[in-house]
Amino acid sequence: MIIENVYIAPVVGTEIPSGYVRIEGDRIAEVGSGPAPANPGETRIDGTGCLATPGLVNTHHHLYQWASQGLAQDATLFEWLVASYQVWAAMDAEVVKGAAAAGLGYLALSGCTLSSDHHYVFPKGRGDLFAAEIEAARELGIRFHPARGSMDRGQSQGGLPPDVVVEDRDTVLAATSEAIDAYHDPSFSSKLRIAVAPCSPFSVTAELMTDAAELARAKGVRLHTHLAETLDEDEHCVEAFGVRPVDYMEKLGWLGPDVWFAHTVHLSDADIDKFAATGTGAAHCPSSNGRLGAGIARVSEMLRRGANVGLGVDGNASSELTTLSGEMRQALLFQRAAHGPTALTARQALEMATMGGARNLGRAGELGSLEAGKLADIALWRVDSAFASAVEDPVCQLVFATRQPPLARLLVGGEIVVENDELKTVDQDASGRAGAEAHRRLMRLARERGFSVAKEVHT
Ligand SMILES: [Zn+2]
Repeated sequence: MIIENVYIAPVVGTEIPSGYVRIEGDRIAEVGSGPAPANPGETRIDGTGCLATPGLVNTHHHLYQWASQGLAQDATLFEWLVASYQVWAAMDAEVVKGAAAAGLGYLALSGCTLSSDHHYVFPKGRGDLFAAEIEAARELGIRFHPARGSMDRGQSQGGLPPDVVVEDRDTVLAATSEAIDAYHDPSFSSKLRIAVAPCSPFSVTAELMTDAAELARAKGVRLHTHLAETLDEDEHCVEAFGVRPVDYMEKLGWLGPDVWFAHTVHLSDADIDKFAATGTGAAHCPSSNGRLGAGIARVSEMLRRGANVGLGVDGNASSELTTLSGEMRQALLFQRAAHGPTALTARQALEMATMGGARNLGRAGELGSLEAGKLADIALWRVDSAFASAVEDPVCQLVFATRQPPLARLLVGGEIVVENDELKTVDQDASGRAGAEAHRRLMRLARERGFSVAKEVHT
């Protein structure tokens, strides 16, 4: 297959105003400028009027939250969590499957070819929740790195979540180990890798954090958690552990090139330098941070000091209907509003959404840029529509515009997942309806357990 006459923003290397990308099997065979060499028998895709970028990489999400969007709209993180835990306690595998089908489909429609997920609520006797989201990703055909999350520090132990949504440490470690053995595929072309992800310092014991790191390193998989998201968390860590979040995680052996943290909004210069020195990554989730009033992560400073930053939409319950392509714009505007117009460029935003994400997920050698030998994960954006073609720079159009350019093609390993803004591997309307049905089902199950939106969310 060859995509020709296309503007190429390869992220690594120089941009090509008119060139071609040749694909063999699931890999990129060649990226070149000018007309494509004739090669009989090849499928040719005319990229005239299009911008080719690497597929976007989403490095933080909670797919199940598709089913609990729109709750606690004016709450802080801790208030929002306390309201949401009660709803999430009612979820089952059917809710997760529908939510994941909608959430992953929505991501693919915004140019995402690889998404992580962080699932950390496992109510007892509600089916195989982890398998349900893996099934949804397999049906859609995008690459998926679900993290087996966990919480073992309920209210009775000084944590934030009610005891009903936490598990005990042995159960968590056994289930996480089983998930890795059952699903983790370390191969170059892998579409499924597992990570280990205790939820946060305020919902997990130090013992589980330490054991989880040991397990992940024994199995050769990556480590993920929420960190330094809000000032409330900062206070909690100082009170409970005597140190701020990054120092706490350092003490537990949680800094390193195999770790990426979600949010990291409240970092000191010394924290940022520790990330850079150890290769610890950050998943920047600007819409969620804005929605919960958490603050603005010091992304331009992190990049300047050599720390890796990728992007994440975060769970849709704290970033309703957020697109991954739109997070490039949100990241850029946040940095500029806080630090001036040179704080982050459109190209840096695109790099965070692609290579930055690939580094966070340990895939920098395999994807994240358009280079010969890498996997053919490619987004082809249409940048010649009547209104938009007044903007000559296609990368500016992609990153600055509120309205996402039409997605002409989305290829995952050379396979077409999206064509002309429509999912091709699954029934798009059915995926959307499955998400809506998951929402209705979850709210019904939560009400049956005595949850009342009027009483517990809008007070
Ligand atoms: Zn999160």
